[in-house]
Amino acid sequence: MTSRKRSPHDFIFKEELGHGSYSTVFKALDKKSPNKTYAIKVCSKKHIINEAKVKYVTIEKNTMNLLAQKNHAGIIKLYYTFHDEENLYFVLDYAPGGELLSLLHRMGTFNDLWTRHFTVQLIDALEFIHSHGIIHRDLKPENVLLDKDGRLMITDFGAAATIDSSLEKDSARCNSDGNSINDSHSCASFVGTAEYVSPELLLYNQCGYGSDIWALGCMIYQFVQGHPPFRGENELKTFEKIVALDYPWGPNKRLNNSTPAINPLVINLVRKILVVEVNERIPLKLIKRHPYFSKIDWNDKAKIWRGIWE
Ligand code: ATP
Repeated sequence: MTSRKRSPHDFIFKEELGHGSYSTVFKALDKKSPNKTYAIKVCSKKHIINEAKVKYVTIEKNTMNLLAQKNHAGIIKLYYTFHDEENLYFVLDYAPGGELLSLLHRMGTFNDLWTRHFTVQLIDALEFIHSHGIIHRDLKPENVLLDKDGRLMITDFGAAATIDSSLEKDSARCNSDGNSINDSHSCASFVGTAEYVSPELLLYNQCGYGSDIWALGCMIYQFVQGHPPFRGENELKTFEKIVALDYPWGPNKRLNNSTPAINPLVINLVRKILVVEVNERIPLKLIKRHPYFSKIDWNDKAKIWRGIWE
């Protein structure tokens, strides 16, 4: 972060990259260093207030600010925030590769090489997020963007929460205002996306690092199957499937396919993650030691963060 306050006039706004429920994101160039491309998220103040989104915007800003100080390759960095009469502006890393979900839709499913590549980067980034006492709470392939070389970057921290570090990790209590709370089993009301929500949130209104690990398991399944594991005709049916651990293993549906069946080690890993009882769910440190990652040197960050299209 620079000390001088930036303003929209410091940037050349280019094409729209997409929009969310309370924001529109534009590609933008810094007038002072035009070689640097950013994504600027523009949030209408009126809309934020009318739609009662102030809390989410505040969480997003605070969480991204905190993570930006440490600069992890797998997390979209927040460079500047400023506002004018109408809008709030978040100046972010630009992810030219778009959403991981779009890539998955184009491919049908990922082959074993790509599944391992994205899973390893997700684990490394998630471990970093958790090491700062933050639960993302809305991990899903739409919230994972890609750089030009196919490295992933986690974004959308609007649903994030902080952990009360005095509590046991996976049963830790949280709230989404950034403070610890003493009311046991309390957590903010349902946030996130139905297909990736953890059973402990549905059953006990609890969330913790384990909830992100559950979402990771859903994503790994989706990489090899092409769709999330739990999907009902409506949210209620999806929730029923989640708590009943009702998900199928079907054939790998790769488009232009020459790939054989799903690696049994992926199935084994997903089964260890998608465990309803959070205390029995495999934690990140043991996921890293799973045989699916036997050839991964978790200390070799350069290798972990190499691009797949480089
Ligand atoms: P919601 O807020 O409703 O959950 P969202 O998180 O997708 O939706 P935004 O964060 O405003 O909303 O993002 C809108 C779209 O802009 C995204 O779907 C993505 O395609 C694109 N986008 C967001 N951030 C970036 C970025 N840093 N680089 C490139 N594209 C981005």
